[in-house]
Amino acid sequence: MTTTFSIAVLAGDGIGPEVIAEGVKVLRAVECRLDGVNFELMEYSVGAGEFLRNGDPLPSHTLQRCREHHAILLGAMGLPDVRWPNGLEMTPQLDLREQLDLFCGLRPIRLFHAGDTPCKTYGAGEIDFVIFRENCEGLFSGRLAGKPANDHEATDTLRITRKGSERIFRAAFREAKRRRGLVTLVDKANVLPSMAFFRRIFDEISREFPEVKTEKIYVDAAALYLVKRPDTFDVLVTENMFGDILSDLAAGLVGGMGMAPSGDIGDRHAVFQPSHGTAPDIAGRGIANPIATILSVALMLDWLNHAETRRGAELIRHAVASVREKPENRTPDLGGKLSTNEMGDLIAQEI
Ligand code: ATP
Repeated sequence: MTTTFSIAVLAGDGIGPEVIAEGVKVLRAVECRLDGVNFELMEYSVGAGEFLRNGDPLPSHTLQRCREHHAILLGAMGLPDVRWPNGLEMTPQLDLREQLDLFCGLRPIRLFHAGDTPCKTYGAGEIDFVIFRENCEGLFSGRLAGKPANDHEATDTLRITRKGSERIFRAAFREAKRRRGLVTLVDKANVLPSMAFFRRIFDEISREFPEVKTEKIYVDAAALYLVKRPDTFDVLVTENMFGDILSDLAAGLVGGMGMAPSGDIGDRHAVFQPSHGTAPDIAGRGIANPIATILSVALMLDWLNHAETRRGAELIRHAVASVREKPENRTPDLGGKLSTNEMGDLIAQEI
């Protein structure tokens, strides 16, 4: 019997379509290696380009269709010059997160090649941790508050709820049980009452997982320790904005945005996309690194949670590792000369 997974593909703007093409190429290569599993892909237009064409970056019928697929594969959305009248960029990816209640921002950080890290002493595999970013509240919850009330001050709200915190902490602890058994809470509990509340809930949930070790660090120290001792981390869990910032820092530890995949996961739906944005500075030149997207395809296969798709995820990670073993297999962001397309081809061939 064959199991068919239907995937919504949202290429988006900027380098989104370039990297998604390689992600799809690799997915098709994996499909040939799997027994009894295939993928039905359906593409939809979203993002700033879609706004310019039809006035809405995330049309409601597209959102509705996305709900009907097993998973969503996304490139990147938004362009610096296409903004709402209040000056803010369009961020349909955030709308998607909130509409589909994708509370868990999963950001795996793994060093595939010693030459990719600015921390000179680490070898492949020695930096290997996951950031769990709370995706639906925190400081980002102020983003829809509208214009400041007057011309003298502006305030954003950092919203922490018990429900939102409990579910992200449980997800982090479950992951730590599958990994090396350590969860690090990153907060600012020494200054912000909302963060003290966050920490209290963390302590409560940690009691449900006595086999998992915990540590608690403030976000400023986390920035320092991530650079000084990245190999000591296993699972980090944090608030939305802190997670946003630290995951870019963490991507920098393993070669940059082109190496950092992500999954935005809820109870029923999930979106997989590279951690990077649309990179307008390099869009259209065929030089974007597609590995973040390809590793996001692997995360998607893990999440689909079929024995064969999980095997496919391992095949992808293995192929990325063996392609990156050779120093010449680098795109320009890693100091090499390969095009987006050539990197995608190499990984697909390896599979
Ligand atoms: P967003 O706010 O949408 O997350 P951003 O402003 O953080 O986006 P990115 O689009 O992520 O910016 O780009 C940040 C930097 O990383 C840019 O210099 C960009 O060229 C580079 N970059 C991002 N993605 C890639 C990639 N896949 N390959 C190579 N370089 C990339």
